[in-house]
Amino acid sequence: MSSSCIFCRIIQGEAPAQMVYQDELVSAFRDIRPVAPVHVLVVPNKHIAALSEVTEEDQAILGRMLLVARRVAEQEGIAQSGFRLIVNNGPDANQIVYHLHLHVIGGHRLRFPMG
Ligand code: 5GP
Ligand code: ZN
Repeated sequence: MSSSCIFCRIIQGEAPAQMVYQDELVSAFRDIRPVAPVHVLVVPNKHIAALSEVTEEDQAILGRMLLVARRVAEQEGIAQSGFRLIVNNGPDANQIVYHLHLHVIGGHRLRFPMG
């Protein structure tokens, strides 16, 4: 955990967020600036700065992030209508928060591709 990391603070309950799911490995909360009707961030409870930093040891966490993304999509009622998962990694992808997170986005028709 890093006290200077906003997502670590949210996970610890030290900063406010609309938490939609939490277990021993991951947490999921609503993005503060949603880009679609549903925009949830799924994050590891452990501080991992970016996808480029993960190791073999993180395999269970990474698998759980995808399972929870599916669970969140069902909870939010977008599992059937469709949704998109995004991981921004590093400067060219405009990663802003350096605590790994999976964007779960849906609730209307999304455009693709981008960039
Ligand atoms: P990325 O790093 O992938 O570019 O995106 C970071 C995301 O985190 C953005 O969509 C941004 O709106 C969201 N975000 C940044 N700070 C906070 C915060 O304090 N609370 C919540 N809930 N979301 C945040
Ligand atoms: Zn963190």
